[in-house]
Amino acid sequence: MAANPVYVYDFVEGNKDMADLLGGKGANLAEMTNLGLPVPPGFTITTEACRAYLTTGHEPGGLREQVDIHLTALEEARGKRLGEATDPLLVSVRSGARYSMPGMMETVLNVGLNDESVAGLAMQAGGDERFAWDSYRRLIQMFGKTVCEVPGEEFEHALDDAKRARGTVNDLDLDAADLRALVDAYKKIFAKHAGREFPQDAREQMDLAIRAVFDSWHAERAVLYRRQERIPADLGTAVSVVAMVFGNLGPDSGTGVAFTRDPASGTQGIYGDYLANAQGEDVVAGIRNTIPLQELERLDKRSYDQLLGIMSTLENHYRDLCDIEFTIERGKLWMLQTRVGKRTAAAAFIIAGQLVDEGLIDLDEAILRVNGAQLGQLMFPRFDLSDEPKPLAKGVGASPGAAVGKAVFDAASAIEMAKSGEAVILVRRETNPDDLAGMIAAQGILTSRGGKTSHAAVVARGMGKTCVSGADALEVDTRKKKFTVDGTTIVEGDVISIDGTTGRVYVGEVPVQPSEVVRYFEGDLDADQEGVDPLVSAVHRIMAHADATRRLRVRTNADTGQDAARARRFGAEGIGLCRTEHMFLGERRELVERLILARTEGERQEALDALLPLQRADFVEIFEAMDGLPVTVRLIDPPLHEFLPSLEELAVSVAVAHERGENAGKAEALLAAVRRMHEQNPMLGLRGVRLGLVIPGLFAMQVRAIAEAAAECAARGGSPHPEIMVPLVGAVQELETVRAEAERIIADTGAGEVSIGTMIEVPRAALTSGQIAEAAEFFSFGTNDLTQMAWGFSRDDVEGAFFWRYIELGIFGISPFESIDRDGVGRLVRIAVDEGRVARPDLKVGVCGEHGGDPESVHFFHEVGLDYVSCSPFRVPIARLEAGRASVETAVASDSR
Ligand code: PEP
Ligand code: MG
Repeated sequence: MAANPVYVYDFVEGNKDMADLLGGKGANLAEMTNLGLPVPPGFTITTEACRAYLTTGHEPGGLREQVDIHLTALEEARGKRLGEATDPLLVSVRSGARYSMPGMMETVLNVGLNDESVAGLAMQAGGDERFAWDSYRRLIQMFGKTVCEVPGEEFEHALDDAKRARGTVNDLDLDAADLRALVDAYKKIFAKHAGREFPQDAREQMDLAIRAVFDSWHAERAVLYRRQERIPADLGTAVSVVAMVFGNLGPDSGTGVAFTRDPASGTQGIYGDYLANAQGEDVVAGIRNTIPLQELERLDKRSYDQLLGIMSTLENHYRDLCDIEFTIERGKLWMLQTRVGKRTAAAAFIIAGQLVDEGLIDLDEAILRVNGAQLGQLMFPRFDLSDEPKPLAKGVGASPGAAVGKAVFDAASAIEMAKSGEAVILVRRETNPDDLAGMIAAQGILTSRGGKTSHAAVVARGMGKTCVSGADALEVDTRKKKFTVDGTTIVEGDVISIDGTTGRVYVGEVPVQPSEVVRYFEGDLDADQEGVDPLVSAVHRIMAHADATRRLRVRTNADTGQDAARARRFGAEGIGLCRTEHMFLGERRELVERLILARTEGERQEALDALLPLQRADFVEIFEAMDGLPVTVRLIDPPLHEFLPSLEELAVSVAVAHERGENAGKAEALLAAVRRMHEQNPMLGLRGVRLGLVIPGLFAMQVRAIAEAAAECAARGGSPHPEIMVPLVGAVQELETVRAEAERIIADTGAGEVSIGTMIEVPRAALTSGQIAEAAEFFSFGTNDLTQMAWGFSRDDVEGAFFWRYIELGIFGISPFESIDRDGVGRLVRIAVDEGRVARPDLKVGVCGEHGGDPESVHFFHEVGLDYVSCSPFRVPIARLEAGRASVETAVASDSR
């Protein structure tokens, strides 16, 4: 029989590179242990064990025995035994997945306490009975909630009752007798909801806690968080079992969290919160107000200095910002966790730049430390404060951005209002993991308690959502759905504005203006100038390196001179898609209507003659904006009915005219024509190349306009590079027909070189790309239509209709219209690139569907060897960065081979 896998690793056996197996927490506890830092001893059960448990519903064979061995070793190391009455070993059972999911899964502290060992613990603590009973009540509370699904409020109400009876609001005022009585109350609550007594067997407590942590992988909030953060659903969590150290042993004990740099701005320094005489969950839950970490220096200088030393060791070792959880037990410092910390988008860029300056990383690594989604966030507008609005309150700028919305006071209302299209700001005293869905639905989050490390702050930063935390002037009353500041009351539905950079809160809507980063891309800010915003100079350096590294070119989708010029400032290297249908709207609609409805050759030619100069002028403007760079003009594509009056409206006006006895002759003729052309599935009907083949002269007019515009620009000394692209081709014969006519016209106008290519957006085109390449000098993947047709999903309808269910079922993690479906649509792309290049080795290949600006998809297009991606102007910088990152990743992967 094959041996069981190794399911349990002691901290001395692991390291930071084993996060897949040991989770982030387990791997980093092991790493810190091996760095010689003060970590309490313990062991980690692997994610593999969790996956096996989640698949089969029971613990995998061998796990129990391996836990036994490691537990015995732990007992020996501590010189205590789990569950022993007089000198018990207590452990914490902690979740820790591959990717950090703050607060989403479970942890149980103080495992090993029971009615007998509580006295032993008091003895260990020098006779401190208060501490022992406090630890016991915490165990029942956490164990009850986590393992047996006892409603948490029941425990909280009992705690409130105990405090009320004592006439206090502070849990520290409860004495040993109060806490002992509270333990009795807790046990009754436990028995009522769990249907059994609180387990007295310490090993049973531990085993049940381990299972509960495994199960918490599937907790609703964890599932939601993974979906939001795009964390794969099948990784499972590791479980670390750690010898307890106590931060609640009196005033010389405490617990805290810290960052090695400011995770909101990147500024170097000491950032963190400390809470004396408390256990870890008190900090996150905001039970009592924390003090800034700097004040620890006054309380316990030795531990403070040691902590600073450890923070610098960790930064140098991880070569990155770290976040840390620690506990001080009677003046002795213990490290309970570290990880490379989450940070805001701005901090990510600034820190990457700082680390390069400090010689800790090179520029290649720096561009891997940031991403396009973060750059996108930095391009969001910020508040325009030129009217000097008076802030209502100020909190901690916990996650930057400018958010405006209606105040709501609970997650359910946030979701409800967001569903009906309202922008909302979720206001809470503090958030907890159950608020996650509301946080996702909101534009921003405002809390009256908690600092930069509170739940709200950490989660908001991870999601790139604006957050102001700890605005303590706010008296938040979630039951009455209002908050009050100095006599001003804001009720649900009132509009507020929050600034996640400065922490300021305003009543009403504050106007917004372009961000510094956009101003830099626009050329309004010089990154090399002295005193320039450090963010701008960090973005500048990183973008310069991405540009120097990337293989993919980046073009833009633009159909006006203005958009083209802006995209060029943003770094576009040409136009990959100029949609011409937009040029036929507005006043020109009537001409197109005449063209479509023409009954004679003369009528049609008249409409075309009127359109030609207008089109030519459009192209001149665009060629000028992109002078010297390629411009791919796509011949008209969309379904005809988009240019005709609505069937319903026409039918009504004809009926009304009849009713009134008026002459409806013209409208009737129009109605008959519109009826004749009506299609059940216009997206699969008369559009694209089909239109060009059916309406004589339409494509010819466009080709002539392009060629004449190019000739005109060249005659003025410009350097136009037009490329003509035929849409919706499914068969080479379609393209050949259009091409033959186009070539004649181009030659006729003397426009010089104009390449002719096609979109690949019908699956048949991808599958016959070898044939099509014979008639095309370039391919551009229209991945919007290609996705629509490969999946059979109507691109206009399905996302709202049922994608939520598909995502819920895990059929896909994200809409395939947003990020390329590598396996299906991606396969069509690969086939077309490969077979197209066999037929025509110098075939130029790009993409111009929405995916061209999606960070994930850009990596795919790099991998399959496209020459360029094309996207909307605002996504051009994002695509440049991601293309650079893709090149570095490829180089790293080939180096490690
Ligand atoms: C596409 O289908 O991907 C494309 C770019 O064309 P359109 O979105 O205009 O149909
Ligand atoms: Mg298309």
